[in-house]
Amino acid sequence: MGSAPAPYVGRFAPSPTGPLHLGSLICALASFLDARSNDGRWLLRMEDLDPPREQPGAADSILDSLRAHGLYWDGPVLWQSQRHAAYAAVVDQLLESGRAFRCDCSRQMLAQSGGVYRGHCRNRNLSCNQPTAVRLRVDEDTLIQVDDGLQQALQQNLAQEVGDFTIQRKDSLFAYQLAVVLDDAEQRCTHVLRGSDLYDSTPRQIYLQQVLGLEQPAYTHIPVITNAAGQKLSKQTHAPALDNAEACRHLCLALKFLNQATPPAHCNTPDSILSFASERWQLLAVPATMGLPESSLA
Ligand code: GLU
Ligand code: ZN
Repeated sequence: MGSAPAPYVGRFAPSPTGPLHLGSLICALASFLDARSNDGRWLLRMEDLDPPREQPGAADSILDSLRAHGLYWDGPVLWQSQRHAAYAAVVDQLLESGRAFRCDCSRQMLAQSGGVYRGHCRNRNLSCNQPTAVRLRVDEDTLIQVDDGLQQALQQNLAQEVGDFTIQRKDSLFAYQLAVVLDDAEQRCTHVLRGSDLYDSTPRQIYLQQVLGLEQPAYTHIPVITNAAGQKLSKQTHAPALDNAEACRHLCLALKFLNQATPPAHCNTPDSILSFASERWQLLAVPATMGLPESSLA
């Protein structure tokens, strides 16, 4: 007898840079429905990794909004701000084994190489007595292929397109790429469903998983909601916060965006909308594009 597939574990991982908006609700809803319709667990991780970019009160406001929309998560929230010791241990281990190195290149120098890091500090053995970033060495000809649950497969020659990438910043903050990989492993996530704006980060995450010997979750990237100018709806483009009193309306808009069945009028609570939607969830009905304009919701 073959072994049973690992039970589904999904997650939603917001950064508390502002309140929940329609774009982040769409991501939360899609990952929730995909988990629930697969009898899976749905975990929450607060990516409070970058205090200067965070907004006071945003984390609590996101959690309140999720509850108001009926999106209850399983188990305790994992806060990245509580995980520094785990991140630091891995950075040390990678430095010791020579997979990672310290780098003091200026922004200006990096810009000159078109954003691709070509190993400038690899063999300089910089000391930790000065502010340095820590970068992961990317071997020549590292070709990473991502098979996505929705989008066309992505192939990236990591050395040529990205180069040695940052795992700890010069200001000593841990990089998103490192934290997300360690935490997806810590939470034993089998499925990562998130916005397509993170699709081209995925090869870096898969490379880190390979270097660290971690399981690779299945990835699915859904389209992001864009404004008339084609920009992702975000705090930067002043996406309005969601009014929790209108949770049902937001859920219906999000379902429409995801091209799912429309709940009937008698589904007039978040719970009834969510149970209707999770029984009918069709991942493959979600448009396989990177972005969709807000006007498609009109
Ligand atoms: N914290 C990231 C964001 O809010 C998402 C990370 C992820 O899903 O991998 O954009
Ligand atoms: Zn450097």
